[in-house]
Amino acid sequence: MPDLVVRDLTKTFPSRSDPVEVLRGVSLSLSAGENLAVLGPSGSGKSTLLYIIGTLDEPTAGTVELFGENPFALSEPELARFRNERIGFVFQDHHLLPQCTVLENVLLPTIARGASSPAHDVRARKLLDRVGLGHRLDHRPAEISGGERQRAAIARALVLSPRLLLTDEPTGNLDRASADAVGALLLDLQRQENLMLLVVTHSQPLAGRMSRRLELSEGKLIPAL
Ligand code: ADP
Ligand code: MG
Repeated sequence: MPDLVVRDLTKTFPSRSDPVEVLRGVSLSLSAGENLAVLGPSGSGKSTLLYIIGTLDEPTAGTVELFGENPFALSEPELARFRNERIGFVFQDHHLLPQCTVLENVLLPTIARGASSPAHDVRARKLLDRVGLGHRLDHRPAEISGGERQRAAIARALVLSPRLLLTDEPTGNLDRASADAVGALLLDLQRQENLMLLVVTHSQPLAGRMSRRLELSEGKLIPAL
């Protein structure tokens, strides 16, 4: 059984006029060590799908099974812990805290768990080395480049060794060279850590790196080129 199984997902947002049907029956599955791109133009529902798979929003209908569990059946604190341990997120904006150093930012998810341990510190430093920021540990986000900030955000997403990495337009704010480097890095890390990687993006070059590509069209997933 794949670790991620999405079945017949629908999502409708209420609105003052007609309700907005964003997802109209989306199914997909992903196993450890697999990566997948979901393409689609702006407004096609990519972020909506990613938030639901990431348990940040609930579907209108349909199911998400993650690691054999229905996350939406968990209590709020259980779900927060589940998400913190199992799922890493990288968004278009890095969301690093400006007052914290690069290393402190990467350690933030470990603090949410209680306290960071020496093992967390080792893991954070190793990841920062791995993403090419070993020499920038004490810099603040304003003191590094956009590509470096996104690399730090990737290290932060992986610090607790999640099994699923969800990325929403991770190269959307970057120039072409930095975007290429971040795309290559995501895929390298996915392979090294045997992760499930889901990338939602409108970027063809980024999606082109992934093994499988699907496209959201009128609320459904269709094969993409
Ligand atoms: P994408 O990420 O592909 O650009 P989104 O998932 O952000 O698309 O949005 C898809 C559609 O759903 C858009 O029409 C958007 O306006 C609508 N939408 C997203 N979130 C909400 C919300 N919280 N309330 C109402 N409509 C929303
Ligand atoms: Mg989006």
